[in-house]
Amino acid sequence: MASIAVTPTRSTKWSPSSWRSKPTKQVVTYDDPSAVASALTKLERLPPIVTPTEIVRLKSSLRDAALGKAILLQGGDCAELFSYCSDEPIDSKIKLLLQMSLVLIWGSNKPVIRIGRMAGQFAKPRSSPTEMVDGKEIASFRGDILNGFDPAERKPDPERLVSAYFHSATTLNYVRGQLASGIADLHNPLDWGLGHVRDKELQSKYQEIVLSISDSLRFMRTIGADTAGQLQTVDLYTSHEGLVLEYEQSLTRRLKHPANYALSNDSSDGKGWYNTSAHFLWIGDRTRQIDGGHVEYFRGIENPIGIKVGPSMKNDELVMLLDIVNPTKEIGKVTLITRYGEDKVESMLGAHIEAVKSSGHVVVWQCDPMHGNTRSTPSGIKTRHFSSIFSELSSALKIHKEHDSFLGGVHLELTGDAVTECVGGSVELGEEDLSLNYTSYCDPRLNEKQALELAFLVAGHYRD
Ligand code: PEP
Ligand code: MN
Repeated sequence: MASIAVTPTRSTKWSPSSWRSKPTKQVVTYDDPSAVASALTKLERLPPIVTPTEIVRLKSSLRDAALGKAILLQGGDCAELFSYCSDEPIDSKIKLLLQMSLVLIWGSNKPVIRIGRMAGQFAKPRSSPTEMVDGKEIASFRGDILNGFDPAERKPDPERLVSAYFHSATTLNYVRGQLASGIADLHNPLDWGLGHVRDKELQSKYQEIVLSISDSLRFMRTIGADTAGQLQTVDLYTSHEGLVLEYEQSLTRRLKHPANYALSNDSSDGKGWYNTSAHFLWIGDRTRQIDGGHVEYFRGIENPIGIKVGPSMKNDELVMLLDIVNPTKEIGKVTLITRYGEDKVESMLGAHIEAVKSSGHVVVWQCDPMHGNTRSTPSGIKTRHFSSIFSELSSALKIHKEHDSFLGGVHLELTGDAVTECVGGSVELGEEDLSLNYTSYCDPRLNEKQALELAFLVAGHYRD
C-alpha cells in the first residue's frame, strides 16, 4: 500500500532523535547498519565530554558578546584530524588563541571569549560525494569521524564514530591539563616572534601593541592585581560543526541545569537536553534548511549554537530560522556566523542586520572571512588571500557600525603551525610558496603569523 509521508510541524515534540523524521542533508550510508548501532550504543554509555556548568557559563558570556560587552574569538582547523591529537599542535593552538585574544582585548577594551574549532571538528560537509584523486574518481573525504583521507579508506567506518569521541576527550583532557598547569599563565613572558614583518611601519606598529600589552601585564603583576588568580589561566571552550547527527544524538543527555540557570525550556524536572560533545556547535551553510534534520536537532539543545549565513540566505529565512531555534529570544543563544565573501558582504550584511533587528532577536554577530573567499590557483591549489580575508572583516566592522550594530566576533580557520596555505600578509607568501608546507586536508588555514597579524589589524580597527 502506498503511504504519504507527512512532515510533522514544528510544534511536534522535540526529542534527541526527532531529526530522523526530517529530510537530512549530508547523511552517511554505511555497509553494516548493525556495526553503526553498536557504535552508537557504546557512545550513549560514555560520559559527557563537557558539562552543563561549562556550557551555561559560555552561554552567559555570549550574552555579553551579543550586548556589545565582549568579543568572541573562534578559530581552529577546517578539518581536525585524529593525528592532530598530539601535544605540540595542541600547545601551539592554545598559545596562538591566547595571544590573539590579548591583542583583541587591547584593541577593543573588552573581555574576549575563546572558542577552539577543536576537540571534535572531525566532520566535513562536501559539495560532491566524489572527488578526483590521481585521475580516479573516488568517494570524497568527509572527515576522520566518517572516513579516512587515504584513498584506500574512503568507505565510511562506524568505528570512527567511537574513535572521534576518544580523540575529542583526549584533546580536551590535554587542554584542561595544560591550562591548569600554566600554559596560559600571563605571569610568564610571551614570545611574539615579529621578526618576519619586513615593513618597518607595520613592524613598529605591532611592536607598540606588544609593548603596551606587556606593560599592562607587568603593571597588574606589580600592584598585585591578581588576587583571584585571573592571570594564571584562561577559559578555552570547544566547538565543531554539528553535522553527523547520529553522533550528536548519542551525546545528547538530559542533565540537571546548573544552579541559578535562567530556564528557557520546559524543565519541570530542573533538567534540560545538553549536547555534551562540545560547548558550542554550529549548523553549516549546507545544512541549514528550515525543514531539515539539522535545524530540527539544534532547536532542542541548551547549548549556545551558531548558524553559518552565506550569500544564499534570504532575510525572512534568517528570521524564520532564529524563531525556530530560539523561540524565547534568549539573548546570545545564537551566533550568526556571516560568510559572504569580500565582494558580497556589502550587498548582504546590512539587510540581514536590519531583518534581525526588527525581529527582536539579539544575536552575536560573528564574521567568518574565510569561507566566502576560497580561490583556486591556476594550478588548482585551494587558497585564500590574506587581503580578501581582511577586506571582508573590515567591511563587516564598518557595516555593523553604519547599522548601529556591533561585530561581536571573528571565526577563523587557523593553525599554530608554520603552514603555507593562505597567501599574503607580512610573511609575504606567494602562490609559488604554497607547496612548501601545505598540510590541510580540507580548506586553507592562516598560519600563526598571518593569524596574529589579522588580530593586530582587527584590534586597530576597534581602536579607530
Ligand atoms: C566550515 O566552517 O568549515 C564550513 C564548511 O563552513 P560553511 O558551512 O560556512 O561552508
Ligand atoms: Mn572550512
